[in-house]
Amino acid sequence: NTMERERMVIVGNGGVGKSSMIQRYCKGIFTKDYKKTIGVDFLERQIEIDGEDVRIMLWDTAGQEEFDCITKAYYRGAQASVLVFSTTDRASFDAIKEWKRKVENECNEIPTVIVQNKIDLIEQAVVSADEVETLAKMLNCRLIRTSVKEDINVASVFRYLATKCHQL
Ligand code: GDP
Ligand code: MG
Repeated sequence: NTMERERMVIVGNGGVGKSSMIQRYCKGIFTKDYKKTIGVDFLERQIEIDGEDVRIMLWDTAGQEEFDCITKAYYRGAQASVLVFSTTDRASFDAIKEWKRKVENECNEIPTVIVQNKIDLIEQAVVSADEVETLAKMLNCRLIRTSVKEDINVASVFRYLATKCHQL
């Protein structure tokens, strides 16, 4: 009985909630001041897809995305990717196309979702629902709106991707 392993990468500008999302999904916690890990690190969670155990391995960055120096090693062997932006950060939304391109450069075509995080702050939104939906269509990605803080839709992101990987 071999366990399936899915290595997934989570990219997006600094501050959008990537590390928080990994902590939330794998450890079930949310802290306001998540300490940045040193070097590339990962956490994992085991779930069941179609009656089979799947181990989801989530790789985090150490904040080097702010300096545009994520190395090839980070992307190596990724089977799925999550492109994250924040509801309250316009630049992080504008950067999604570029993040998609970077993932494609390193990983070719892999199942990918666009995540609009921090929907608990929707009244401070700096992007319209229309814009977000248009971008997701253009990039041919599923769009999922999450709040890591309120634990909304976080698990659906990884269940969706694991299911996609399983079908390939
Ligand atoms: P990263 O740089 O992308 O890894 O982002 P972090 O995980 O370090 O999060 C940046 C900040 O956003 C932290 O203060 C988090 O507590 C906060 N944060 C993350 N997710 C949410 C969310 O869904 N809602 C709100 N209000 N804050 C969030
Ligand atoms: Mg981080």
